[in-house]
Amino acid sequence: MKELHVNVQRFDPKTDREPRLQSYTVSANDGARVLHILHAIHDQIDPTLAYRYCCSSGQCGSCAVRVNGEPVLACMEEAVDGITITPLNLPVKQDLIVDLLPKIEAIASLKPACGPELRLPTKAEIDEIKPLRDCIECLACVSVCPAMDVTSFLGPTAMRQDMRLILDPRDTGDRVPDAIRDGLFNCTSCQACFKACPKKIRIPGKAIEKLRALANQRGFTLPRHREVAALIKETGRSVTRTAPTFMEQVGERIEPVGPVKATVGFFVGCMYNMRQQQSALDAIEVLKRNGIRVIIPRDQICCGSPLIRTGQLAIVDSLKQRNIDTFQSRGIDTVMTMCAGCGSTLKHDYVTPFEVLDINQLLTKYGIEPPARLPIKATYHDPCHLMRGQDIKEEPRQLIRRVIDLVEMPSICCGSGGGVKSGVPEEAAALGEKRREEIRKTGADIVITSCPFCEFHIASHSDKPVKNIMTVLLEGYREKDRQSQKKNE
Ligand code: SF4
Ligand code: SF4
Repeated sequence: MKELHVNVQRFDPKTDREPRLQSYTVSANDGARVLHILHAIHDQIDPTLAYRYCCSSGQCGSCAVRVNGEPVLACMEEAVDGITITPLNLPVKQDLIVDLLPKIEAIASLKPACGPELRLPTKAEIDEIKPLRDCIECLACVSVCPAMDVTSFLGPTAMRQDMRLILDPRDTGDRVPDAIRDGLFNCTSCQACFKACPKKIRIPGKAIEKLRALANQRGFTLPRHREVAALIKETGRSVTRTAPTFMEQVGERIEPVGPVKATVGFFVGCMYNMRQQQSALDAIEVLKRNGIRVIIPRDQICCGSPLIRTGQLAIVDSLKQRNIDTFQSRGIDTVMTMCAGCGSTLKHDYVTPFEVLDINQLLTKYGIEPPARLPIKATYHDPCHLMRGQDIKEEPRQLIRRVIDLVEMPSICCGSGGGVKSGVPEEAAALGEKRREEIRKTGADIVITSCPFCEFHIASHSDKPVKNIMTVLLEGYREKDRQSQKKNE
């Protein structure tokens, strides 16, 4: 047995104006789950504690709560000392019990075919349905979806259900128009629903992108998304240039200043090449200083992410092949990405004959020369396609902490992904404003991030300067050079 100290959010609508945290100390067996702790509090300390549970084996979804802010099933999550247990981010009825009904009622049900139309799913169809069928209606995904906070989007599990029904021959509903009406184009591709789902249902890729592709086949793609597709088809790039491109400003092969630690091909991406050139130029200086030889093939083009996320797949395979051939023909075995969206696309939507590393991974792998410390306070915005898309959370922080003191803020989507910035700009702006508020609360002097879309979008929703990690590292090196020059004078 061990003693655990936990905090539990309490709220009784009859007596409390605000929720409050209550501390408890309970004895628990090794390996006890959060649900065991709630039972112990209820049975031994306070029988008024309200929480839901049913199967206690991860099958019913009733006991979903947040532990230290992250949605989990209480029956599956191991209890450790010091945790804080709060309800899902949904309207609270009492203590840990949230109102599930309105969201569950929104999940579509089968519209059965009758008579000769009725056909049972084949084995192949069942296999396709399977990854979408495992939902236990815990609503963890709904509780973290940023799009639902600012629009009337019905949410990830409603989209999952629409796609699941499309795959079922017994259903006669016309699900694509239903999904569009319910907010199909509001999803920012942030992956928060997938990360929160205890059944690991890949709703963005397995439902939302598939629904958008079906919408595209029926001519329902948003006009702005069609314009982006036309631009890629015509120019190979998803955005137009605002100044000389990054690739026009650098050579194809860039040697480091000192000994070579590694050679990488640089997949630049449309935004760093055409719009956020300075961040990429700063990155080159940081890489040169840290022993990385960089090869930048001129014939690389858009990775296809803007098309894949919006369901416009017609030319995606040709883009992929061109990019793979470009790097493979130069004998490159490691491709470095700096754009979180390109990195996630190359890792998940491509089958590459080379390794793909994000620049933060690369620099932490090979180590960096210590920069000087800068006397400012910074906060870091986790790009969704880096943190959730590539599981890269610690590496950027390690690099930033070499230069600047970091104040954390909640990792929420800024609203720039999934075609939302171009297709539903009012939603992107609303999410940007939520980001502004979180940035303001940190009291930081600057915002640091590691994605050109986030850099670009947050810049118009922040009172503080937004900088790329590489720019901040370079500023640390320049300060170091200034200090050593001063010493030598
Ligand atoms: S990917 Fe993000 S925005 Fe899209 S449904 Fe999931 S949580 Fe919502
Ligand atoms: S999709 Fe996953 S997170 Fe969402 S309700 Fe179903 S099981 Fe829960």
